[in-house]
Amino acid sequence: MAQLDTKAKLAILADAAKYDASCASSGTAKRNSRDGKGIGSTEGMGICHAYAPDGRCISLLKILLTNSCIFDCHYCINRKSSNVRRARFTAEEVVQLTLAFYRRNYIEGLFLSSGIISSSDYTMEQMVEVARSLREDHHFRGYIHLKTIPDADPALVHAAGLHADRLSINVELPTAHGLARLAPEKSVVRIAGAMGDLKESIDEGHDARKRFRSAPKFAPAGQSTQMIVGADSANDGEIIASASGLYDRFGMRRVYYSAFSPIPDASAILPLKRPPLMREHRLYQSDWMMRFYGFKAAEVAAATDASGMLPLDMDPKLAWALKFRDIFPVDINRAPKEALLRVPGLGTKAIAAILTARRVRRLRLEDVARLTVSIAKVRPFLIAADWTPARIDGAVDLKALVAPKVEQMELFAA
Ligand code: SF4
Repeated sequence: MAQLDTKAKLAILADAAKYDASCASSGTAKRNSRDGKGIGSTEGMGICHAYAPDGRCISLLKILLTNSCIFDCHYCINRKSSNVRRARFTAEEVVQLTLAFYRRNYIEGLFLSSGIISSSDYTMEQMVEVARSLREDHHFRGYIHLKTIPDADPALVHAAGLHADRLSINVELPTAHGLARLAPEKSVVRIAGAMGDLKESIDEGHDARKRFRSAPKFAPAGQSTQMIVGADSANDGEIIASASGLYDRFGMRRVYYSAFSPIPDASAILPLKRPPLMREHRLYQSDWMMRFYGFKAAEVAAATDASGMLPLDMDPKLAWALKFRDIFPVDINRAPKEALLRVPGLGTKAIAAILTARRVRRLRLEDVARLTVSIAKVRPFLIAADWTPARIDGAVDLKALVAPKVEQMELFAA
């Protein structure tokens, strides 16, 4: 590997990290240095472009320790057979970069991933050393997210969790056969085993902290994962089922979906084109349906078409409502929260406001209009004090009335 200065390494290793979408942070412990001890903070606004579910912007230095790798995953630009320029940071270089960026107020934390250098254990040791040194040598109190290597010694993963706020292990692809085809050196069994171990350690850490406040924190922001969409033949129904299983089995804080992006010198078994970005967006919306709107995975999957794909021209909650019209209209003055959550166009904040307001008065359509982006979209699905819609179960033109115009969606897809 050619000798490169830090700036040149940073250019290569920050660019190589851009394919990882799973760096948004959320749910971490509040920690700051206002008491004059240490530096850094997990709180406050930042300059970066990772967003927490609550909309807070988190600034992270997002880099790889190295983009060299002994594995040859077909979809990865850093794979062994890829013809890219390679670089590698030492653990100390990453520590110094993080501190320098933090002091200049460029970042609030670090997201560190890596290709596999000579073995999973050696690579993991280096990543743990970065986190350890930041915390113990420099009293860094900012956010740290480490990408964990599933084949690494569990003791190393445990050490990582004692320093990092969040750990993640990429599931990579939605199905086992997709993984076997595109990342033959990886094993779905080993990935699931590592995720299970992580869940156990996170749960034990929470339990210990409940009993003893002095117990060490273990990955207080939990674990997350990422899957690539569109590199294999998995349809949206399979992706939704896979994500649901990851939430249920491993208590994931987030599953991230990353639309496959064609890479230079791509393997011949990969598709030539990336999937529409709107597909990734629809999958995130389906994810929200499961996490915040009470839909089961099978219900979300019912919004897909005959080929198992979510429609691109409308959000999956609306697609689901158009398929199951007989449960509508829902009376906003009487219906339980669970029924309100099913109404397309009503978000969780609007529903909370409706539940509060209706305790003191009967709500009219104009009250709902103030809480939604488009009352035209919501109106056919609800009853208000002054509004009863026509029956919608037989309405053939309802989709044209409530679905967004195709031209608008193309703007978002660009
Ligand atoms: S192990 Fe990670 S870095 Fe290495 S080729 Fe596979 S996806 Fe890329």
